[in-house]
Amino acid sequence: MKRISILGSTGSIGTSALEIIRMHPGRFRPVALAGARNIDLLLAQINEFKPEIAVVYGQAEASELEKRLPGNSLTKILWGDEGYETAASYPSAELVLLAIVGAAGLKPALAAIKAGKRIALANKETLVMAGELVMKLADENGVEIFPVDSEHSAVFQSMSGQRQEDLAKIILTASGGPFRAKPINEFSSIKPEDALKHPNWSMGSKITIDSATLMNKGLEVIEACRLFGLPPEKIEVVVHPQSIIHSMAVYRDGSVISQMGVPDMKAAIAYAFSYPERMDIGLPAPDFSSIGSLTFEKPDIKRFPCLALAYEALYTGGTMPAVLNAANEVAVSLFLEGRIGFTGIPGLVEKTMKLHSPVKFPQLDDIFQADSWARRIAGEQHTD
Ligand code: NAD
Ligand code: MG
Repeated sequence: MKRISILGSTGSIGTSALEIIRMHPGRFRPVALAGARNIDLLLAQINEFKPEIAVVYGQAEASELEKRLPGNSLTKILWGDEGYETAASYPSAELVLLAIVGAAGLKPALAAIKAGKRIALANKETLVMAGELVMKLADENGVEIFPVDSEHSAVFQSMSGQRQEDLAKIILTASGGPFRAKPINEFSSIKPEDALKHPNWSMGSKITIDSATLMNKGLEVIEACRLFGLPPEKIEVVVHPQSIIHSMAVYRDGSVISQMGVPDMKAAIAYAFSYPERMDIGLPAPDFSSIGSLTFEKPDIKRFPCLALAYEALYTGGTMPAVLNAANEVAVSLFLEGRIGFTGIPGLVEKTMKLHSPVKFPQLDDIFQADSWARRIAGEQHTD
């Protein structure tokens, strides 16, 4: 029985992870579940999985959850930073799934690494903000970070059994999102509800907007750089609207190895849970004759400048990727609240990056400071 701690259990990745656990009773046991404000769902998860601890956002959510727990419940309720860090370093957990969204994932990730836990990492923002420090710390603590992001899982699978020195580059695939074919003069009228309709993947709202702007692919380029220790010029992005090829590794003899599958995050989550074994999770292989063709296009950075901004942040390095990430989080929230337009997202990120003087070799404190600075500046740059 593998004991697992799941941070972000009420989200899209978290609920898919619990679906896998439900399919394999007796194989995994969630000992810690952490959500934020969705008390109804967390309560249902506690009643079903009976974890030893459950974590919520604040004291108010903790009191409400405690009131609603059945009298005989043995689950201890924790909250806030301390609660998330306890869940991430929970002594009996062998594996920690980090599936909180956004910069809030960084502190629990650090706690999991310091506790020497094996990590299944969905929270890409951790590696965007502080990837170099996080990977170094993981190395020092003998911690394996296993990618849950489907592209990175695909690259990992395409590199296994190969010699790193033979690798020429990796190619991350992008669906192109809902506006792949939309003319640029229609971008200003895009509404949050249009951007929340992803053609292939069902995901949380922040990453769905990031997929529509292509910032998600930009964040993934930085994530790949840190995770696989590759220079930016060895990471290419290609738009592949069918989302069947999840990413590829190109070798010096011109050979390309890819991992394919239907677009469902359960495959990448399950692989991180059971590696090197593969479990039956009820997913069919793609039906190639009914798919017909797999197509590829160059990403258009004129319409999707977020991808170029992410490369720029990566080349600048230091605290700039943390600033890109924080400004993007602010911009996505403002867009979802209807306070800025779709094209305002890259606009706000770019303005904030321009005002930043990066710390070249940051420590964690510098990263957290850059994150707060960028949130404040992005908030000030924006006018309703
Ligand atoms: P989501 O919005 O569906 O869920 C987020 C989870 O984090 C929820 O459980 C929520 O309660 C919790 N949370 C939110 N804010 C929090 C905070 N401040 N403190 C603690 N917990 C908080 O998001 P998601 O789509 O499941 O994505 C989670 C992470 O996985 C993101 O980093 C995303 O980039 C990454 N990811 C998601 C997918 C996907 O298909 N959904 C694919 C690849 C990577
Ligand atoms: Mg991805």
